[in-house]
Amino acid sequence: MTKKKILNFLFLTVLFITSVGAVVVSKSITSKPKLIYIDPGHGGSDGGAVGYEGICEKDIVLEIGKKLKHFLEQAGYEVLMTRTGDYDLAGSDSENRKRDDIHRRVDLINSTNCLLYVSIHANKFSDPRIYGAQVFYKANSTKGQELAESIQETIKALLQNTNRFAKSISDKYLIDNVKRTGCLVEVGFLSNPEEARMLSDEYYQEKMAYAIFLGIAAYLDKNS
Ligand SMILES: [Zn+2]
Repeated sequence: MTKKKILNFLFLTVLFITSVGAVVVSKSITSKPKLIYIDPGHGGSDGGAVGYEGICEKDIVLEIGKKLKHFLEQAGYEVLMTRTGDYDLAGSDSENRKRDDIHRRVDLINSTNCLLYVSIHANKFSDPRIYGAQVFYKANSTKGQELAESIQETIKALLQNTNRFAKSISDKYLIDNVKRTGCLVEVGFLSNPEEARMLSDEYYQEKMAYAIFLGIAAYLDKNS
């Protein structure tokens, strides 16, 4: 990371702590913890996208999910995760693991009154030059769009390596069927060698998680 980027990161961090963070933390002291659901995609026999040097989506998104959970808990939120290890959510006797897994995730999130959910995935594309994190939301969901745009903005500001815009998406079972406000964060392209390497790095994972956290915090600050 260049000196400029380090300074930028520190500046944004300080800015956050003195503004949004302070508000979020102070609110959490006076009110009951509020629930946020994190959904790290795939798991178990479903590795998700396999990218450069065999890097597996299921591992990357779980690590980022756990780091995001940590930041949210520090700010006073209660956090649940659809999975906390390398497994899927289909039953042992499942005849269609992928279908049963995704149905279970939807049921889990819908069974709570969570403030919001974030599903975490990583992308893959045939052209290895394509890169950049991007956040997706359910079409016609104003709150989902607001959340997605907030997270996209903080990822852009903190990581400085994507010019993508938050975008609506349809025909994704989870997004279509979860009844709570939420979004899907594609943390980058595992098919891009540089981005795959960065996404395997613990420090970069932490920065990504922190950027998602900042986006959530800014959204909640406006919507509570
Ligand atoms: Zn995925």
